[in-house]
Amino acid sequence: MNVEEDSAIVAKRKKAHRYTKEPGRVTLREFRVTMQSEHAQREVSFSNEIWSCTCDFYAMRKTCSHVMAVQEMLFDNLGIRRP
Ligand SMILES: [Zn+2]
Repeated sequence: MNVEEDSAIVAKRKKAHRYTKEPGRVTLREFRVTMQSEHAQREVSFSNEIWSCTCDFYAMRKTCSHVMAVQEMLFDNLGIRRP
């Protein structure tokens, strides 16, 4: 790697760091995580504007504590934009 590349990457890192202070620039489109619940691992995802979870409660009610927790982490704690 030459010096020019290094300075370009440094500039990009600085810009990236500024972006981290503005989470509203980010809008959720696709997302998938594994969450360890009290009793089992749950697969929580967001795709095509629809949240999903592998737990039984979600199957019945189309929401659950796992989806609610992930939404709170993303939107309330991190501040990224809701879709
Ligand atoms: Zn769930």
